[in-house]
Amino acid sequence: MKLKDTTLLRQAAYVAGRWIEAKAPAVVAVTNPATGEVIGNVPRLGAAETREAIEAARVAQVEWAGRTAKERSVILRRWFELMMANQDDLGLILTLEQGKPLAEAKGEIAYGASFIEWFAEEARRVYGDIIPGHQRDKRIMVLKQPIGVVGAITPWNFPNAMITRKAGPALAAGCAMVLKPASQTPFSAIALAVLAERAGVPAGLFSVLTGSASEIGAEMTANPTVRKITFTGSTEIGAQLFAQSAPTIKKLGLELGGNAPFIVFDDADLDAAVEGALIAKFRNNGQTCVCANRIYVQEGVYDAFAEKLATAVAKLKIGNGLDDGVVLGPLIDDKAVAKVEEHIADALGKGAQVSLGGKRHALGGTFFETTILTGVTPEMAVAREETFGPLAPLFAFKDEADVIAQANDTEFGLASYFYARDLARVWRVAEALEYGMVGVNTGLISTAEAPFGGVKSSGLGREGSKYGIEEFTEIKYVCLGGI
Ligand code: ADP
Repeated sequence: MKLKDTTLLRQAAYVAGRWIEAKAPAVVAVTNPATGEVIGNVPRLGAAETREAIEAARVAQVEWAGRTAKERSVILRRWFELMMANQDDLGLILTLEQGKPLAEAKGEIAYGASFIEWFAEEARRVYGDIIPGHQRDKRIMVLKQPIGVVGAITPWNFPNAMITRKAGPALAAGCAMVLKPASQTPFSAIALAVLAERAGVPAGLFSVLTGSASEIGAEMTANPTVRKITFTGSTEIGAQLFAQSAPTIKKLGLELGGNAPFIVFDDADLDAAVEGALIAKFRNNGQTCVCANRIYVQEGVYDAFAEKLATAVAKLKIGNGLDDGVVLGPLIDDKAVAKVEEHIADALGKGAQVSLGGKRHALGGTFFETTILTGVTPEMAVAREETFGPLAPLFAFKDEADVIAQANDTEFGLASYFYARDLARVWRVAEALEYGMVGVNTGLISTAEAPFGGVKSSGLGREGSKYGIEEFTEIKYVCLGGI
């Protein structure tokens, strides 16, 4: 399979409007997780280049914020259109470096592009307020202004969309962005920079730095010019970035880990619940922060649900994401495989049973069998930790109060899902779940129109929707006297 436009796979970083080519030995190799082959190299950059990017962003941001919202919107719209025009190539690059099936990768490009489209539209709707004054001769005005230079750090599970969900609102609001993509998947980020340049995003406004995460992250968080850090990744690194940002009092946007419960009540449509579980659990091979991590099934329907789920999951084809009909690719790396194995071993040691899969796939490498465990209990590691792989553990529960207590018994609070038909129960459970997002009778909730984000250790702030752009603005109060 070949790229139509080979200039989109660029072995270079984009810093302050100039391209820095990868030159050995200061490079990071990027491998294809399906084959282990090296796709190419990106430069290994550090603090000096990060400072340079931040300084260029500071200058570019002032000019960019001075443009009208419509002018910014037009450029973002062009970026969106270029992404869609190059959807096949961007999807191929994504599959090569991330492993997800090509159809899913192309779906991510459309999803990622939709954030640029949405925020190109929202750019023109950042309204302020005029508030009646507290004294006869005064009026109170509220302006919303761009926060300034933003530092972004993104993960490998959505190499395109996790970037656009941040860059879209930031640029729409009039901010500049310095981005450090995950080292496993930098080529999707670089391709976005190629298209940003073509769309007319001014030099320096959007930089993509590859290389040492800790060095680049340290500079981004310490540098006083950076006014906001937006991060998607693990809670551990998120907390570290939060601490590093404290001395310069930065605004933080954090999309961190989850431990999503997926609850099936006895009044649920079981076939619909199975379909929802397939999407919520196995999308991206279980490697999303909103993936169902714990599946709770009410006692009366437990066996029936387990059987239906096993039948459906057994049909999912595993393989190289470029091959026809494949719906599950490899896991991202050996560490990811080890975590799934650890959770399975722990659960089996404490009395769970394997109903499907349970081991590394015959394809080798980082391929893993789709796995279902039954008889899972709260003492098992999978109840507390995010597996981030193709493991569906089935817990049994008695009643509503029991399952709500179990579902909320976690430090995380990102996504949650439940299937039920009783309207009063739907309302009660949706209110009782301590999560930023609740999917009722659906396993798929992410879209540009809706606010994505979590509570507790799952993070701060919301991405997407009309709320997403607010995260990149500051409120300024102007008191006009002498009227
Ligand atoms: P994951 O386990 O999903 O890889 P991480 O939180 O480790 O999640 O990584 C998410 C992003 O954070 C990646 O881009 C990674 O390079 C970056 N990262 C990892 N460690 C640091 C750090 N110390 N400072 C800044 N960024 C980091």
